Order: sequence, then structure tokens, then C-alpha cells
Amino acid sequence: MREQGRLRYGHQMSNSDKKTEHNKTHFGFTEVDVSEKTERVRNVFDSVSNKYDLMNDVMSFGLHRLWKTALINQLKPKENMTILDVAGGTGDIAGRILRETNNKASVTICDININMMEVYRDKSIDRGIINKDQSASLICSNAEELPFSSASFDAYVIAFGLRNITHIEKALLEAHRVIKPGGRFICLEFSQVISPLLNRLYDDYSFRVLPKLGSLIARDHASYKYLVESIRKFPNQEELSFMLKEAGLGSINYQNLSGGIVAIHSAWRF
Ligand code: SAM
Repeated sequence: MREQGRLRYGHQMSNSDKKTEHNKTHFGFTEVDVSEKTERVRNVFDSVSNKYDLMNDVMSFGLHRLWKTALINQLKPKENMTILDVAGGTGDIAGRILRETNNKASVTICDININMMEVYRDKSIDRGIINKDQSASLICSNAEELPFSSASFDAYVIAFGLRNITHIEKALLEAHRVIKPGGRFICLEFSQVISPLLNRLYDDYSFRVLPKLGSLIARDHASYKYLVESIRKFPNQEELSFMLKEAGLGSINYQNLSGGIVAIHSAWRF
């Protein structure tokens, strides 16, 4: 692992990884080589990092803030907890955990994309947070191969990250490994809309409007087309619950928000 300030680099896909994987997977609605997907996803978030926070507010009419509040309400972070925010990006969740615990929780953001975490670092500096105890640690690494000891976190949180990961099963096994026995797993992710009417409206908005907003605001139509498509390819509430069980997690339940546009899955490691 290479160190640069507080940013540390973990696993990068090696050439041997690339040679040994011949299977196909999806990148949105496009079929790609398994070995290509992580890099493509990294490029998406490289491209959108500067406009990511603004786009979240615009695209969701600010709803993502309420969804993230619901996640924090479920997590109930406490002082002295060690919490891993996987695919933490620009640090929305990590920042909320730190505020909720008066900076007393130990929070680590782990993301494959250095540009996204640099946005978090710059925001922290702009807010006058330069003391390292008041901000999250930043680790650049793939969720499929976490550079942490087993049983090292009280909670593992992942918000809008899981659907971007190439091998979701691998990431969930890693989640199970790094959570302490008795610790919590929480995932906030887009899911399956329950009402057919809402689903039709949501589809129209997603496919017709969102990529155009991406073009206008972030000058990036393709990344926001990927966003919409990746949501449709992601397992629904029940399928994800099954995957969590397969990864060894227990007491699994989920809460639909905004009619199932997103869901919060909660589970425990025993
Ligand atoms: N959690 C943040 C939030 O809720 O605003 C950011 C979510 S953003 C939609 C998805 C993040 O997942 C990006 O920052 C991206 O770099 C990260 N990501 C994608 N694939 C990853 C992987 N395999 N391992 C770790 N992070 C990954």
C-alpha cells in the first residue's frame, strides 16, 4: 500500500486478475468483460466527482439527504464506535456520522476512486477541519479486497456503492470478514419500486430526464445513463437479502423508502 498524506492506496486490479477473468458482466445495459468493469466504474466517478454532490441534490430533489438521514437513524452511531464507510465517495455518510458523534467515532472512508475522496478532503479543509481527529481516514481500495484486519469494525456502511461493484458476493464476504462479531452491516441502495404507477413515472424520469441533466450540469451524458441502467440491473430487495444471508450475515431486514426507489438493508454479524 502506498501512502500519500492521509490518502492510502490499497488493492488495484493486477494484470493477472485481468488475464484470468474471461466472464462477461454488465456495465449498465452494456455487456463487458468482467475484468473491465471496475475500471469503467472508476472512470465514471472520475468524470463526475466535481459535480457529484450538486447532481445528487438536483436529480433527487434533495431526497438523498432524507434517505441518508434514515440510514443514520438506523445505524445510531455512538462515540468510540469504529465505522467503515465503503464506497464512501465525497463523504456524506462519514460526515454525518462524525457530526452525530461529536467527532468521537472513528470513521474510515474506503473508496476505489481517489478523486471522489479528494472532494471530501477539500470540503473538510473549506469548513476549517484540519485536525485529523475531526475527519474520516481515507483509504483508496476495492471493496472486494479490503485492506483491513478481520473483525476490526463495529459497523460497515455502504450507500449507493454496492451496485457499482463487479463481484458483489465478494464484497459482501469482505464485509462479513471485517465486521466484529456483534457488529452491524447497513446498505442504502436503489431498489425496486413497489407501485406500478410510480414505477412508470420513475422510469420516464430516469430514462428521459436524468441523462439530460447529466449532460447539462456535469457535461456527462454517458455517466448518468450508466447510473440509471445500473439501478435497473441491481438485485431487488428480496434478492439482496438472500445475498446477505449467503455471505453469512444474520437478522436481515430491509426498509423501503420513497416507495422502494431506495431500500435500507440491515444485517448483523454473529
Ligand atoms: N457513498 C457516497 C454517497 O452516498 O454519496 C458515494 C456513492 S457513489 C454513487 C458510489 C461510489 O462507489 C463512488 O465513489 C465509487 O468510486 C465507489 N466505488 C465503486 N466501485 C467500488 C469498489 N469496487 N470499491 C470501492 N468503492 C467503489
